[in-house]
Amino acid sequence: DELVSQIAAGEVVERPASVVRELVDNALDAGATQITLRLLAGGVRLISVEDDGGGIPQAELAVALRRHATSKIRTLDDLESVATMGFRGEALAAIASVSELALLSRPAGQDSAFLLDARSGELRPVARAVGTTVEVKELFFSTPARRKFLKTDATELAHCVEAVRRHALARPDVGFAIWHEGKLVQQWRTALMHGAGAGALDRRLADVLSEEFLDQSVALQHQEGRVTLTGRAGLPDTARARADQQYCYVNGRFVRDKVVAHAARSAYEDVLHGQRQPVYALYIDIDPARVDVNVHPTKIEVRFRDSREVHQAVRHAIENALAAPRA
Ligand code: ADP
Ligand code: MG
Repeated sequence: DELVSQIAAGEVVERPASVVRELVDNALDAGATQITLRLLAGGVRLISVEDDGGGIPQAELAVALRRHATSKIRTLDDLESVATMGFRGEALAAIASVSELALLSRPAGQDSAFLLDARSGELRPVARAVGTTVEVKELFFSTPARRKFLKTDATELAHCVEAVRRHALARPDVGFAIWHEGKLVQQWRTALMHGAGAGALDRRLADVLSEEFLDQSVALQHQEGRVTLTGRAGLPDTARARADQQYCYVNGRFVRDKVVAHAARSAYEDVLHGQRQPVYALYIDIDPARVDVNVHPTKIEVRFRDSREVHQAVRHAIENALAAPRA
């Protein structure tokens, strides 16, 4: 079963950033408002993700590490309409099979926090406020072949930061901090003081992408059929656009999708006759029954039931925004 877990781990855990993505997903699912990452050696030596979410009762710590254990869906019907980031119940088990993992947690109403060491199974009380910390040490220590494929610490760190950035752009209501080797490398504060909704999102976009992106982009707001779109599309002046500055979310989940990318490119070509790479942060809301998120273990790909519907909505949303007269 160790082997089965390690094979499953290969699909979920490719590098430190994959661990970061899964642990931040879990923190968000737990209702965290502040998430702090501490990394050593680009995440290879240590990834610690600390949240102030709902926590895990002492009696359920061991269950959380078990394969296919999820507290998030109970029936096949739930799978049709997953609202949480996680639902497959394999991330913690997979990560634990290729690292030294410790789970520390304290739910509200429990006097103390408990730490469970995944390898030894040892459980002991520790001091901690309500919330959860997952510590992942020595990633791939038992699979040297995988460890060899990792890049420099700086590169792995950059991937970890990018993984958090993807979450941060979707959740301006949550604060994020990233520490590497004891130094604060990124901090995105909650934008709540700027009001809910668009104000908070704009602040977060400026913090995470750049002030320039906020200045040189247009807001979009579009509804077509069963698809609703919001976000911002960069004007061609954001000439330093990089392909990796295309952020697309489907029901709050970061995705890479060919249909969306193609629709966006078409819109830019139509309106701006652009040779440029489009830059955008696009938030697509769609009836969960019309999109399958269970396509790949990393959940970065989705399958739309009607991709034409999505293609047209995205294209029109961006075209309208780019073509509208600007104040
Ligand atoms: P999934 O997220 O798909 O349910 P995971 O393996 O990522 O599976 O997590 C297993 C379970 O552990 C979750 O369903 C949840 O109950 C619990 N869990 C994991 N991380 C946290 C956290 N940060 N806060 C609260 N509960 C957590
Ligand atoms: Mg999860």
